[in-house]
Amino acid sequence: MIELAIQTRHTSEMVDITETVREAVIKKGIKSGLVAVFTPHTTASIVLFEKIDPKLRRDFLEALGRIAPANHPYHHDDANAAAHIKSALCGARVVVPMENAKMMLGEWQGIFFCEFDGPRERKVIVQVVNG
Ligand code: ZN
Repeated sequence: MIELAIQTRHTSEMVDITETVREAVIKKGIKSGLVAVFTPHTTASIVLFEKIDPKLRRDFLEALGRIAPANHPYHHDDANAAAHIKSALCGARVVVPMENAKMMLGEWQGIFFCEFDGPRERKVIVQVVNG
């Protein structure tokens, strides 16, 4: 198991962790298998997303903001109900096949850590199931 620390810088942001994950896996001497990337938080997510256009990340965060607006009168006692809802909608993990030290991501795909209640230091767990 590999544990990564991700320092986020904004309330809401998407951090491309594709290279960090790839390097961490290769450093362990693992070249193939299923790479599971998981985050143990309820106000953050891991998603596969388009990696080329940073403006699209803004579009995605704004779309989530329309689904779960910050200023809605939520029942949750903390001020972060919107972040919990976005986290549940986006999910806490992705799984990517890896072969010959290459993750089989599509040309446009990257692995992103989504922060919805930052900035904070966050944890990402990577586990490879050999196959
Ligand atoms: Zn809360």
